[in-house]
Amino acid sequence: MSAKPNNLSEVSEALKRFDELIGGLKKSLEIETLAPRVHILKPRDYRGTVAGVRDVSLTVSALIHGVEVAGLAVLVEFLELVTRGKQSIDWPLGIVLGNIPAAEKGARFVERDLNRSFGRAETATQEDRRADELERLFVRSDRLLDIHQVKLAIDRPFWIFPYTKSGFEFARLVAPDVSLITHWGKGFSQEGQCSDEWVNNAGGIGVTMELGQNGFAPDQIALGLKTVIRAVDVTGAHRGGKSVESLNVTKAPIYTWGEIIPYPQTGEPVLDKGWHNFKIARAGDRVGVFNGQDIVAQITGPVLFPKYPDPMPDGSYNKDRPAAELMRILKEISEADLPVGKN
Ligand SMILES: [Zn+2]
Repeated sequence: MSAKPNNLSEVSEALKRFDELIGGLKKSLEIETLAPRVHILKPRDYRGTVAGVRDVSLTVSALIHGVEVAGLAVLVEFLELVTRGKQSIDWPLGIVLGNIPAAEKGARFVERDLNRSFGRAETATQEDRRADELERLFVRSDRLLDIHQVKLAIDRPFWIFPYTKSGFEFARLVAPDVSLITHWGKGFSQEGQCSDEWVNNAGGIGVTMELGQNGFAPDQIALGLKTVIRAVDVTGAHRGGKSVESLNVTKAPIYTWGEIIPYPQTGEPVLDKGWHNFKIARAGDRVGVFNGQDIVAQITGPVLFPKYPDPMPDGSYNKDRPAAELMRILKEISEADLPVGKN
């Protein structure tokens, strides 16, 4: 059920095209480059920038995880539209590709997870240094739309981000028909911040969309492109003080964490085969086994991020603990259940 490895020549072609398109746009736009593949696109006559002020209305990022290549294709297609005059750039828009060395190797990351590397003082790993480069743009960004994909097969895209009222409203305006997972309380990971979390902490609005399973999937690329275009429209309307017409679609469910099944400190838990994202677990169901004892779901809800160890080339399993947790079970909530006072 894991995705096929990415075709690395397809990845390098897309990176090359991305660079060509940015280079070509220098004729019609002002391009401010903060670091390799960290760009701000502005109209040539744009005069809205004031030093020290958050001047980038929206930043769209992709490839924060190197194997999640659909977002790269989305940004290439978006830049093609700008190049052909089918999409206008009326205010500063940030465009970022995150982890290029990992993408070129077909890996999620090289030394450490870039999406757990924001807000750290360390500079020992290449991801720590790359996070610093991205933060230079993020700190100037009102909004961040971060495009990701997941490892295991999945039947739908979803939004996922730490809850803020403005982030929730933005996501619901941009793609209300996409299931939305949000959470509050302590951070997603203790070892470093995610991009959206860092932007929220810096006073902006960070949201993440997971398009589907890793790879250049045309339906996911189409959804990603539609989402970016709508995010630009919504942001442009808000900048102009205009309201945005809601899309006439059925709103998808909202979820938060219902149960987090931890990975035991020692020993090898075994998750039963066949769990995948959004498959429903029922309270009382066995989901796996640990030291001869069944691991049992406490609540009924869709499963998220089941952790299976990666098989090694010799067919054995990597004995490294894959994560701090075995899987999560989501609980459906309504808007009334969202916390108040988190703007
Ligand atoms: Zn990701």
